[in-house]
Amino acid sequence: MAFKITVDLPACQGYANCLVEASALFDIDDDTNKAIILGDEHDDVLRGLAEAAKRGCPAHAIHLEDL
Ligand code: SF4
Repeated sequence: MAFKITVDLPACQGYANCLVEASALFDIDDDTNKAIILGDEHDDVLRGLAEAAKRGCPAHAIHLEDL
């Protein structure tokens, strides 16, 4: 099953743990210092990475939604 990642941007503090855990899925915006999600829908093969990023986010700002 594919899934979609969303980031609660007001909650995001730019810790970049998500980028460390899953550089294929996240980047950090240099201007806002907030997370950017790379891509729109993601295949299940990337779910483990996404779950790791979600667990590693100190702000609990990452959410995964099944499509
Ligand atoms: S780990 Fe969480 S708080 Fe840090 S940049 Fe990523 S989404 Fe934002």
